[in-house]
Amino acid sequence: EYADISLKDIDQVSKSSFPLCMRHLFEKLREDHHLKHGGRMQLGLFLKGVGLKLDDALAFWRAEFTKKVGSERFDKEYAYSIRHNYGKEGKRTDYTPYACQKIISSAPGVGDHHGCPYRHFSEDNLRAALGRMGLSSRGMEDVMDKVRNKHYQLACTLTFEAIYGTSCDAGINHPNQYFEESQKILK
Ligand code: SF4
Repeated sequence: EYADISLKDIDQVSKSSFPLCMRHLFEKLREDHHLKHGGRMQLGLFLKGVGLKLDDALAFWRAEFTKKVGSERFDKEYAYSIRHNYGKEGKRTDYTPYACQKIISSAPGVGDHHGCPYRHFSEDNLRAALGRMGLSSRGMEDVMDKVRNKHYQLACTLTFEAIYGTSCDAGINHPNQYFEESQKILK
């Protein structure tokens, strides 16, 4: 339903248009060639919302996971849940991507990379990640101020506004909304 992204553009688009939560999952997947269940769900459904087709999604996850596990194991243990997310297995529910509220209230454990960085990162890690996104020190302090007051979605909105140099009056309430608003600006 949205502008589709294809596999060849996905790395570039992850840097230009993904909110921090998805950028982090994407980078970890590229780095570790693996994500635990919570991360696979959060990123997988987001990518579906972004318009990644099922075949491309399978190719995407397979390319990373098979750097660690055999392709047989990928097919057996992981491909099912990807098809499941697309409503092709089990109850055939067409699962929708998670909104910020759900992500913020999740409880990532050790080794998990899902969740909302504004809520779940240490201050040092958050500052480093925001720096890599290109935030100036002025923008950084405004964001950290919202984080300290537990206004995580506002912190994300301020990040958006600082990066794209435009206001986002509606505020960020969904990672796919962040993505779409960003694509509108960049196009
Ligand atoms: Fe992701 Fe929402 Fe957190 Fe932004 S506020 S990083 S979009 S969960």
